[in-house]
Amino acid sequence: MALIVQKYGGTSVGSPERIQHVAEKVMAARQRGDDVVVVVSAMSGETDRLVGLAHKLDPRPEPRELDVLLSTGEQVTIALLSIALQKLGCAARSYTGAQVRILTDNAFNKARIRDIDETAVRKDLGAGRVVVVAGFQGVDEDGNITTLGRGGSDTTAVALAAALKADECQIYTDVDGVYTTDPRVVPQARRLARITFEEMLEMASLGSKVLQIRSVEFAGKYNVPLRVLSSFQEGEGTLISFEESQMEQPVISGIAFNRDEAKITVVGVPDQPGVAYGILGPIANANIEVDMIVQNVAADATTDFTFTVHRRDYSQALDILRDVAIGMGARELSGDNKIVKISIVGVGMRSHAGIASKMFQTLSKEGINIRMISTSEIKVSVVVDEKYLELGVRALHDAFELERAPK
Ligand code: ADP
Ligand code: ASP
Ligand code: MG
Repeated sequence: MALIVQKYGGTSVGSPERIQHVAEKVMAARQRGDDVVVVVSAMSGETDRLVGLAHKLDPRPEPRELDVLLSTGEQVTIALLSIALQKLGCAARSYTGAQVRILTDNAFNKARIRDIDETAVRKDLGAGRVVVVAGFQGVDEDGNITTLGRGGSDTTAVALAAALKADECQIYTDVDGVYTTDPRVVPQARRLARITFEEMLEMASLGSKVLQIRSVEFAGKYNVPLRVLSSFQEGEGTLISFEESQMEQPVISGIAFNRDEAKITVVGVPDQPGVAYGILGPIANANIEVDMIVQNVAADATTDFTFTVHRRDYSQALDILRDVAIGMGARELSGDNKIVKISIVGVGMRSHAGIASKMFQTLSKEGINIRMISTSEIKVSVVVDEKYLELGVRALHDAFELERAPK
């Protein structure tokens, strides 16, 4: 008998019929003799709808109140799934994040889990019940409701699996596993039977939203066996594996992309100590996360300084820098929020040369101009104009022959 944590995403619980289907899948696991904890998301579209409602009243709603609002989506689903399970004759009990006591910090809208009190869950499991937990939410020390950031139900599931030392954490979604790239953009994308934890971490952090990045971090930290599967069809899905396979590794495992990028350039700043700090200090103080940073070699006594931020923070970052740029004597402040980042990821890159140049050659053949480049041990990222996203990803998928299974 195993202890399994199953998570069902928004599409998987998008209607009463789909919730019924989930109840039947949970029931089947029970009948195989497993103990089951189920984590659910809000019904598809619901979190967006709630955000939209708040924005009708205030474009920048108070984060605490937004979390009170957003957490209701998941509360609906836990109740409906428990009702469906009970109707099937399967004992079940629903819990909000606060009721389980998923304790988080107080960073509303992007809280981090600190601790989980699994006593109640264990008691229910011991009494033969299925435990249904609301994803994406927790409670801070003062009893305020918090949420974990978009896609946060994945993290709830992995954190619960870690706390309960579950045998497996299964993420059920609308695709049957992790693919070489988003199958919505490249129909020839191939499901990976396994992906290393390290590669999954890069893919998630570079924009593959199939798993929230924090869920992958958690899985790594606590060694949680993690699998991505389809809610709608049977199959093995993708195992996030901790050992690198003995078999020949493909050089590139996947392509990630991120549409939420924007870049800002401070043109013609004096080339002297304190410039990077002068520009990025105020940005950090405003809690804006910076991703890529490029400073050119000074041609005259001045240099250009470019960095990227999330598109949501673009106009605020520009506002902050207007005065800063003038104060520094910069020639100009410019920006572009119609850019995207495309990244190739693979542990095989460590032992193969020429991967970056193949990437650049492929993009140049398509006439795609590269605006920025950044590399690390197992990835190469480029920033390009938004209109080239699909073309670029497809060309790279082709060039690295990702549709073919490695021999
Ligand atoms: P859920 O609502 O179940 O959490 P998400 O929409 O968050 O589902 O994640 C699943 C989606 O992730 C897929 O429909 C797919 O479009 C997208 N996706 C992006 N990159 C990948 C990838 N490499 N492999 C599989 N799916 C991906
Ligand atoms: N409902 C939340 C969201 O849409 C959390 C999740 O689905 O994981 O982001
Ligand atoms: Mg998701």
